[in-house]
Amino acid sequence: MSDEKTNHLFRQNVERMFDNAVLALGLNQNISRLIKESSSVLQIKFPVVIREETIIFCGWWAVHSTHLLPAKGGIRFSSLVTQDEIEALSALMSYKCALVDVPFGGAKGGLLIDPKAYSRDELHEITRKFAQELARKGFLNPATNVPAPDMGTSAREMSWMAEAYKEIFPEDVNHRACVTGKPVNHHGIPGRTEATGRGVQYALQSYFRCLDDGSACNSLEGKRVIIQGLGNVGYHAAKFLQGEDGVKIIAIIQRDGAIYSEQGLPVNEVKKYIAKTGGVKDFPDVKFIEDGKSVLEMECDILIPAALESQIDKENADRIKAPLIVEAANGPVTYIADEILKQKGTVILPDIFVNSGGVVVSYFEWTHNLSHMRFGRLQRRFDEMRGRHILTALETLTGEQTPEWMRAEITHGAEEIDLVRSGLDDSIRAAFDSMREIMAKYEKITDYRTAAFAVAINKIARYHNEPS
Ligand code: NAD
Repeated sequence: MSDEKTNHLFRQNVERMFDNAVLALGLNQNISRLIKESSSVLQIKFPVVIREETIIFCGWWAVHSTHLLPAKGGIRFSSLVTQDEIEALSALMSYKCALVDVPFGGAKGGLLIDPKAYSRDELHEITRKFAQELARKGFLNPATNVPAPDMGTSAREMSWMAEAYKEIFPEDVNHRACVTGKPVNHHGIPGRTEATGRGVQYALQSYFRCLDDGSACNSLEGKRVIIQGLGNVGYHAAKFLQGEDGVKIIAIIQRDGAIYSEQGLPVNEVKKYIAKTGGVKDFPDVKFIEDGKSVLEMECDILIPAALESQIDKENADRIKAPLIVEAANGPVTYIADEILKQKGTVILPDIFVNSGGVVVSYFEWTHNLSHMRFGRLQRRFDEMRGRHILTALETLTGEQTPEWMRAEITHGAEEIDLVRSGLDDSIRAAFDSMREIMAKYEKITDYRTAAFAVAINKIARYHNEPS
């Protein structure tokens, strides 16, 4: 199937999932139509001279909702990107922000490009031109449209975009807030690079916390996990889940195939190997499976698609054996596949919940940029001093010496990274609780995806219902 057709279906999938939630909520059709439609889409064609040839690049910025500003979304650099895909992703952003209580509208950007075909300097120039075009048209601005990294882009591209905006608007005191996901030494925030993967971990922890009955089968420890895509999101999710929760990553699927080991794969080593060779083929001491996509169908406890959309569709849904799918990528399960999997009893934690960590920490970065002050600056030393006073009081009252590790914990004033992690964990837990609450309230809401959409739609509807 052509990518254009796949992307058109992706957009329809998002709309059908939205419709399901509207039906379950019994929401007024006028309001639901208002929420569903995109506000605007900008298409930009711009020339860049590369190796003495003028190349015309095409990019989009789709704004789905502006009930809150700025509109927020990732910028994707990919040779498969289409306007339909960007519009579908911008809608997901609106629902994601509402679900996790991040006060932003939804947007998404895309540039039709194979980033691997260009040198670093060429990519810098292309990104700079794209950013300038967006900024001149008002679609890159700290108050209205704030991009972040997505597939094919990273902190580096965000710093180039911030630099391009500042060149045009040097007098804007808030210029740093025009994009998020910047490097920490370029006014980013600690914890943003890994935020989406960290959020995947917190989402899974929330789910297992709610199952917890003290039995081993309801703990993450030892769970066998298959992950598709070891990029920004997939790598960090795999690293944290393996290193901190004791899961076993038994298979990793990349573009060139998949690798498998029942003993568990060394995630960091695999990541380094991909960076060096471009794929997973010939990684030592593991089984290589050329048809990577078929590995989605292998038996495991948790399947984490973390690469791209429409990976589980009506063709393979029936063969998926994982009882739990955690959508780290946007839209990896199509609408029909979702229906098939639900019938089979597969639990799906949906994308707008699972991968919301990125936008949550982007929100922290944006507020940090607007406040011009790092989080914790005012209270860190005060908290340390108070901790020391409490310790002294305790030791005086009990006559006992506090163990060194406990002393260090109690007298530690939170650093910015501690606050970012705490805020992220809190946002994910609150979103999970809100999904559980709506499932308990509405009989027709029986799965997490419908619950996530319903929570988001209810919140956005409130803005449209408020008297003007
Ligand atoms: P990325 O470009 O860093 O990584 C994508 C990974 O998927 C790479 O390892 C790539 O090799 C692999 N991949 C690509 N095509 C594949 C295929 N056909 N089969 C197997 N593997 C394939 O991208 P990312 O930022 O990690 O984004 C991944 C997904 O997560 C996307 O759906 C994106 O929209 C979503 N997401 C990303 C963020 C973020 O903060 N980066 C936030 C929210 C959602």
